[in-house]
Parts: sequence; structure tokens; C-alpha cells
Amino acid sequence: MEQKFFLYARKSTDVEDKQVLSIEAQITELRALAKQEGLIIAEELVEKQSAKIPGRPIFNQMLERIEKVTVEGGQAYGILAWHPDRLARNSVDGGRIIFLLDSGKLAGLKFPTFWFENTPQGKFMLNIAFGQSKYYIDSLSENVKRGMRQKVRNGIYPGLAPVGYLNDFKTKNVVIDKNKVEIVRKAFELYAQNNSRLEDIANFLAQAGITTRNGKTMKRDRVSYILSNPFYIGFFRFRKELYEGRHEPAVSKKIFDQVQEILRQRGRPHHKVKNEPQAYCGLLKCGTCGMGITAEVKVKKQQNGNVHTYVYYRCTRKNKLIHCSEPFIRQEALDLKISCLLQKFSLKPDWAEQLMQMLSKEKLQAAQSTAAFVQETRISIDAIQHKLQRLLDSYLEQDIERETYLKKKSQLMLGKKSLEEQSLRLEQKRQGWLEPMQKWIKQAENLSNIRPEGNLFEKKVAAKEIFGSNLALSQKQLQEGGRLWAGGKSESGASAPQSAKTLPQMHWAALRAAHQKISKIPESLVLVALPGIEPEFGG
Ligand SMILES: [Zn+2]
Repeated sequence: MEQKFFLYARKSTDVEDKQVLSIEAQITELRALAKQEGLIIAEELVEKQSAKIPGRPIFNQMLERIEKVTVEGGQAYGILAWHPDRLARNSVDGGRIIFLLDSGKLAGLKFPTFWFENTPQGKFMLNIAFGQSKYYIDSLSENVKRGMRQKVRNGIYPGLAPVGYLNDFKTKNVVIDKNKVEIVRKAFELYAQNNSRLEDIANFLAQAGITTRNGKTMKRDRVSYILSNPFYIGFFRFRKELYEGRHEPAVSKKIFDQVQEILRQRGRPHHKVKNEPQAYCGLLKCGTCGMGITAEVKVKKQQNGNVHTYVYYRCTRKNKLIHCSEPFIRQEALDLKISCLLQKFSLKPDWAEQLMQMLSKEKLQAAQSTAAFVQETRISIDAIQHKLQRLLDSYLEQDIERETYLKKKSQLMLGKKSLEEQSLRLEQKRQGWLEPMQKWIKQAENLSNIRPEGNLFEKKVAAKEIFGSNLALSQKQLQEGGRLWAGGKSESGASAPQSAKTLPQMHWAALRAAHQKISKIPESLVLVALPGIEPEFGG
């Protein structure tokens, strides 16, 4: 009697099945073998599942039917498959096959690629074949893991590169995607300006051709994920750990930090305020009740049809204890007063130039004195870097436990971070005042250009800088702390606020004082006195 066989073909999407013949090809080959050897195929069974773990439904059904047939007294079936690894890649399934052979329930096995005979020797070989499949899987996944670790250790992200980067399959590295990186960078910069919503960024990306895989505009979550991915500043996350990548950063840390701050602040999408706040809102307090000064837009229609809009500033009158009756002030009038006040703090261009020269000399000296210390710190940081590498090595060699590794690693990384910050702080201390000083000189020089009706917002920023929140409005006059400022009229000679460090801030006060001294002492002496205020910038 002819032997009946189940034809069993299997191929999964697993990596290790990549090299295996397609299911169609397996079936063709198996049919040919059956014909050649005169075997009857009872049924062709196709499975598209991994054999790494037990639990393939078609395979299980096949074994059940094989058992059932013999229990019912029928003729035992055999199995026809491409290779033992099609039947089992795990020891449970392999064991079941061998048990069925031992108990005579399975008539035999035929493989085009593997010799098998139902003898102790044959079963021994089969066992090895199943075992080899298992070994192959184990070593493969071990190799994959090892490869990934090797990559991670080399600072190469082992996964799919994020948008703006590409996986270079030749060098196995992650490289900049020249076509897209600029767009991603612009998206970061756009969001850092804090006037775009995540939807706006998604639209911006979509217009530039960056979409989801099916060509749709990205959802907020996706954009938020991109904007918070540390990959773009040269790091990457792997198994919840942060690593320093070797890939080129696409975005500066500064921009990235700004973006994170905005993402943090905005839990929800931003809605535009209906009533645009006016230029000087948020600058002044009411001199009577201490509440904020707000603006109101009034539209006046004349009988001849002309329409005039006026902006008035007034107290919000939110103080319930004081009945406030401060008058309104027109924007033009307020602007005039603010402009005049600011001009008192301006720096003459020729002074500014001399100060800038002194500053560059100072800068040179500071740079030289810092260099030595920075060098020293650099060496310590390198040493820690070395230790980190050794630690990773011993972890990968399995000399130490993961927990110990993670603990030690974070200790070292934190140590490195503080050294870096120490070095930065020192540089900050020695040179940190130079940049604000330079900025201040430019600012003060710009104040000499302040004119009424110029850019109101610029003036507000300057006034905020000089006075903080110490500027009040009372009876249509500007008040600096407790002192009254009659806009336009000049200050009385010797009243520079030397005692008050806060009103206005020291360096600005010094500048105003210098203006007032100018008539009394030679100009050169005033100038020399100015750099004496340096320490104010140290903080
Ligand atoms: Zn008030």
C-alpha cells in the first residue's frame, strides 16, 4: 500500500526565514519529490507562522489528526516538508514529532534537503537537526543583540533613523538626509518662536513634503514626538537609556531647550487672544492703587463719516479696597513721556565706542586666564569618558549585572556633567559679564535713537529692562518707584538714586548719573568710572 503524507510548507516573516524558499517554491519541490518517490499527498497544509514558539494552529491540527487516525485504527500518515526546521524550531514541537515517531503514530518523515530514516540513528540525526534549528535561532537573536549593542556602544542608533536622517546600509551608520534635515530644523526654529501650534508645524512639514507613511498630514502627537526627540541634538534613546550618538546633530541645544520649554508650557493648543494687547500693556502700575494699567481702544465716528481710533491707557481698578479715580491717558501722551524718560539712559555713540574697545581688551585677558583651567577639566572629563567605556565593556562581557552597570553609569555621567558645568561656570564667571556688558552698551547706545512715535514695543522692552516692574502712572505722570517723573522736564542735578539698587537697576542708574555729572567733571573721568560697575554683570 502506498504511504499517505501531509505536505507541510511553512514560511514566516521572521528574519531567520529570509533565506528560506517561498511557500510556493516549497510546495512545487515537495510535489515533485512525492511524484518521484510515489508518495500520496493526503493534504497540503500551509502555515505562515514562526516556529520559534509552540502554538502554530495548522501544525497542531496536523499532529492531532495524525494521532487520531491511528487511535481509530487507520493507516498512519507521514509528513513531507522542505527541511526539519520547517517543522520545529523549538524543543517542544521537536519533542512531539519524535514522540509520535517512537510510538508509531507517525509513519515517517521525508525532506528533500535532509536524509531521514525512522531508526534510532535517524531519530538521533533528526534531534540534532531540530536542535540546530534551535541553536540557529538562539545564536541569531544573540547575534542581533550583540550587533545592536555594538552599534549602541559605537554611538550608532540601532533602529530606523528619524525623519531628517537616513540609515546608510553600506556603512551601517545614520546620516543626515540632505533633502529633509533643513525642513526639520526650520520646524524646530518655527516652534521655538512660540507662535505656532503643533498643527501649524504639521502643516508646515506637510507642505514641505514631510507626512505620515500614507501621505497624510501628521497628527499633533507625532509632531510633538519629533520635536522632543533628543536624536536631533546628537543623543538617542535605546531601551530607556540615553546615549551620546555619533550622528551629526540637526538642531542646536539652545533651540531644542526652547522647544522643550514651550512644549512643556502648552499642554493644549494655543488660541489667539481676541483683543490684541496694546504696546504698553503690562509695563505700568497704577500709582494710586497698585493695579495694572491696561489699554482700551475707542472708535469715534465723526458726523462727516470720518472714523478715528484712539488707544487709552487706564487703571484696571481691580483693587477692591481703594476707590481709584486715576484719569485716562492717550497713547500718544504716554509714549512721549516714556520716550523722554528713556533718553535719559542713553549712551553717547563716542562713549559707546570707547567702552567697546576697553571691553575687547578685557575679553582677551579673560580668555587667556580661563584656558588653563578648561584644559585641566577637559582631561578629567576624558578620564571619565574612558571609565564609561570600560564600564560598558565589562557589562557587555557580562562581568557585572545590569543594575550595577546602570547605577555606575549614571554616577559617572552625572560626575561628567558637573565637571562640564563647573568648567562652564568658571568661564561664565571670568567672561560671562563681558557679553551682557556688550549687549548693554549696544542697548544704551540705541536708546539715543529713541523718538516719540517710534517702535512702541521696542520702547516697552527697554523700559522693562531698566525699571523692571517699578514704573507707575499717576495723574498722567510716570513714577519711578516713589519718585515722580515729569516726562520732558529734566531731573534736578544731584538726585541719582545711589541708595536704591533696584530702581532702576544699578548699571542704568550709573549711566544716568554720568549724564548728570557730565557738566561738572571732564568727560574722560566719567568714562573711566563706568567700567567700575562690572560686578553687576557677574550673576
Ligand atoms: Zn488705580
